[in-house]
Amino acid sequence: TGTLMRGKRGLVMGVANDRSIAWAIAKAVAAQGGEVAFTYQGEALGKRVRPLADSIGSKLVLPCDVSDDAAIDETFSAIEKEWGGLDFVVHAIGWADKQYLRGRYVDTPREAFLTALDISCYSFTAVARRAAALMKDGGSLLTLTYLGAERVMPHYNVMGVAKAALEASVRYMAADLGTDGIRVNAISAGPIKTLAASGIGDFRYILKWNEYNAPLERNVALEEVGGAGLYMLSDLSRGVTGEVHHVDSGYHIVGMKNPKAPDI
Ligand code: NAD
Repeated sequence: TGTLMRGKRGLVMGVANDRSIAWAIAKAVAAQGGEVAFTYQGEALGKRVRPLADSIGSKLVLPCDVSDDAAIDETFSAIEKEWGGLDFVVHAIGWADKQYLRGRYVDTPREAFLTALDISCYSFTAVARRAAALMKDGGSLLTLTYLGAERVMPHYNVMGVAKAALEASVRYMAADLGTDGIRVNAISAGPIKTLAASGIGDFRYILKWNEYNAPLERNVALEEVGGAGLYMLSDLSRGVTGEVHHVDSGYHIVGMKNPKAPDI
């Protein structure tokens, strides 16, 4: 334990269970003295999130489906009422109908496209605007993205397009909010076996491919994304905004298959 986050209060959105990236970041923040509030999507997940929140002494655990503006409003009024201010937000939320996370991107229907972009991209903007209004002493907003935004990954499809929009929104919001001392960044995580990842076609193949071809010759651990999240939310990164920071064992720099890698 340390004191990097002492005196800081923030909201972590996107914990589904103890394998969630959001949970890894929340634990890292709490271990450094930060105070964390959580939102969850629907009561079934609320039952999982409450004991996790309890285990790090969190008192504020609120329902929030980010497709609903009124629910986002309620979340931030509750935080304002309880805390009066806010120092950081983690947005670790993404969703697309898994029917379209296989096959060809070009076949994505309008409705599936709009929902994926709404939940996976616009929700961060909707949250950031309300959070920024509470960040009187500056703050740090963080979202999670994936290399499928920059390069074509098999099956990632409409999520890749949504993540590209999300990464662009990080840059636009960094420019908008910099004047208020509010930083906006993304972590581009390597593949990790989570609930969300299980919706992606051939995910085990993607994990193996990364393990064999990344410079570090392994996949990233949840705790490593947690540590990078802590950096982005703390004053250690106070000179950093508009950044997409890769935490992926270096896979994003690779141009070709590792000749030493075994066949998968
Ligand atoms: P996860 O399933 O643990 O978390 C995804 C969360 O999104 C869940 O808590 C779910 O409840 C929430 N969510 C979905 N729709 C929502 C809605 N309408 N309202 C509120 N919440 C909603 O999986 P994860 O892998 O920890 O995902 C967190 C983030 O990390 C996502 O943005 C994901 O795209 C990103 N990411 C994951 C990986 C990976 O390999 N797991 C890699 C890079 C980026």
